[in-house]
Amino acid sequence: MAVVELSSPPARAQLEAIWNQCLADIRQTVNAQSYRTWFEPLSPAKLEESELTLQVPSQFFYEWLEEHYFKVLRAAIETHFGPAIGLKYAIADEEQIIPSPSTAETATLLPSAAPLPSSAPALLPKRSSFELLIREANLNPRYTFENFIKGESNQYARAAAQAVANNPGGTSFNPLVLYGGVGLGKTHLIQAIGNFALLHGKVQRILYVPSEKFTTDFIDAIQRDRVSEFSNRYRNVDILIVDDIQFLSGKEKTQDSFFHTFNELHQLGKQIVLSSDKPPKELKGLAERLISRFQWGLTADIQPPDLETRIAILQKKSEDDGVDLAQEVIEYIASNVKTNIRELEGCLISLLARASIENKPINVDLAREVVQTIVTDVRSPISIEFIQRAVATYYDIPDDLLKAKTRKQEVVIARQVAMYLAKELTSASLKTIGLHFGGRDHSTVIHAYQTVEDEMRIDDPFRNSMTQLRRKIELTGR
Ligand code: ADP
Ligand code: MG
Repeated sequence: MAVVELSSPPARAQLEAIWNQCLADIRQTVNAQSYRTWFEPLSPAKLEESELTLQVPSQFFYEWLEEHYFKVLRAAIETHFGPAIGLKYAIADEEQIIPSPSTAETATLLPSAAPLPSSAPALLPKRSSFELLIREANLNPRYTFENFIKGESNQYARAAAQAVANNPGGTSFNPLVLYGGVGLGKTHLIQAIGNFALLHGKVQRILYVPSEKFTTDFIDAIQRDRVSEFSNRYRNVDILIVDDIQFLSGKEKTQDSFFHTFNELHQLGKQIVLSSDKPPKELKGLAERLISRFQWGLTADIQPPDLETRIAILQKKSEDDGVDLAQEVIEYIASNVKTNIRELEGCLISLLARASIENKPINVDLAREVVQTIVTDVRSPISIEFIQRAVATYYDIPDDLLKAKTRKQEVVIARQVAMYLAKELTSASLKTIGLHFGGRDHSTVIHAYQTVEDEMRIDDPFRNSMTQLRRKIELTGR
């Protein structure tokens, strides 16, 4: 183990050498793909006063690292730079330096998992009391109302959440129950209530828990004979936020405990905020008395976002990441990733990651590749009929000619193009495609496909017109 003489900054070469030892460790721990994606692009920028600054390609890159690889990274750095080392990130091409927040968390949140040596806390950045409240509340400070894009699909839920955040416990919206499908922003909105209330000094004590955590805490308390401690923890708050209450289903004892917690808080005029994947009355396996209480206040739904909202979300998120995405790339993703905002974000992150790591331009082609790995049914919803109409319109011929026997040159080309696009954009078999073109057999389709492919390789204008046509169909065809 090489512990650097921290009082004298080592030469560049030495810094690189130690960093390479860290990388060697990390390589043993994470898989090859993750290593290439998330660690190879890092470089040690400087080592000064017991603080290592790592250069990362972008803000999102840093967030990803912190979220997913903090422990691995920290362990390697401690081994080779010494246990008392501090860690910061510098974003390439920007002046910004970000202290690693997880460095601070380690001491308070993970005492048993990753004990820091006693010398370490002195190096940790001081946290304001506001940050401390957020941590104690178990809130993620990223989930704010400002970061939440408004749209028709979430208008009602957002307005209700804002009303509750302005006046916790003081409205008739108690409990506030938000429900909707996965990845639509429930967790974001219910945490935004907590973050807002703390930031604006509405209340001091907030607790956010996923319902599974409530359950395990409860079981744990029983096993360790610490039920009163458990009750104090959950009943001593101004706002209790419980996420995904559908997971309480079938857990009768936990439901009992939650019932009492609920009653006590409600009587004291404390705010209760819940989320669920269904409206309360449709929740199965939940005690009637709980369900009826959930309906005392306000129940608001979040619907899947419409196209405009999806575009707005992508625009905002890419701006936050400091990238300027072409409108057509944004529209492509927004029209193909429809049901879920988490997937929308996932797409954007993969797109940025692939572009930065493979050094590719961000364009519709790359977006298509990424979307196809994320949305499995991206190919299926376009119909062969739709493609035929689009191609016929493009070549300005009646669409039934594509199915006819005619061998006129312009019809033959249009037919081949339509077959090619049918193969590329739908999951139909060669045989099915042939049937849609006046009962031609599969070898005709293969021939058409190859002809178009060959032509695209040698004829630039043809290739460009194909790309445009394809894009148009992908954008409008589902
Ligand atoms: P759920 O809890 O409903 O499964 P989340 O709240 O975890 O969904 O949302 C998934 C991701 O999408 C989160 O990263 C969240 O920040 C983001 N998100 C959801 N809705 C919006 C929105 N309206 N504006 C911006 N980001 C959103
Ligand atoms: Mg959630």
